[in-house]
Amino acid sequence: MALANILSEMPDLLRRTLDEHTPDAQGYCRECRDASGVSAAWPCVTRQLAEEAENMAGSGRSPVATERPSVAGRRRARDLSSSSDLL
Ligand SMILES: [Zn+2]
Repeated sequence: MALANILSEMPDLLRRTLDEHTPDAQGYCRECRDASGVSAAWPCVTRQLAEEAENMAGSGRSPVATERPSVAGRRRARDLSSSSDLL
């Protein structure tokens, strides 16, 4: 939660995170691979954090991003409704 808060104050980093942590054809994050090549399922923890931060930044301030894959918007709505259980 605190990390998302920090990210929401850093629009450049937030934007880059959202740009980089995108799903590949198999639905795994392109960015989150370990040395053995294993990827995290997308949306990865980092992506979810960034979207949470984006929500914070969007409320009362100008949105960081205007164009995003529609899947992100759908995921974000679901993540929001379940985030109280996760955090
Ligand atoms: Zn990732």
